[in-house]
Amino acid sequence: MIVPLEMDYLTWASKYNLRVKTGKCVKCERELITNIPFALKSYRGLKSEDHGCGEKYTWKTFKPTGVKEKEQWAIIASSM
Ligand SMILES: [Zn+2]
Repeated sequence: MIVPLEMDYLTWASKYNLRVKTGKCVKCERELITNIPFALKSYRGLKSEDHGCGEKYTWKTFKPTGVKEKEQWAIIASSM
């Protein structure tokens, strides 16, 4: 469950060293920006708003904050 937070996204981005992504939705070509802060378990991220194309077409960028998640993340990242 993703919990959107009432917080300035630039403050959030710098706090967790997240990159704000911009670009076009591959389905409807609308301009998207990941400017909604969210927390998911021990992950912290930014997502674009749901503009009608569904969750699959919203953009997300996130980073782990917990020690265990960071280890798992390193394994995932090294296998990509
Ligand atoms: Zn779209």
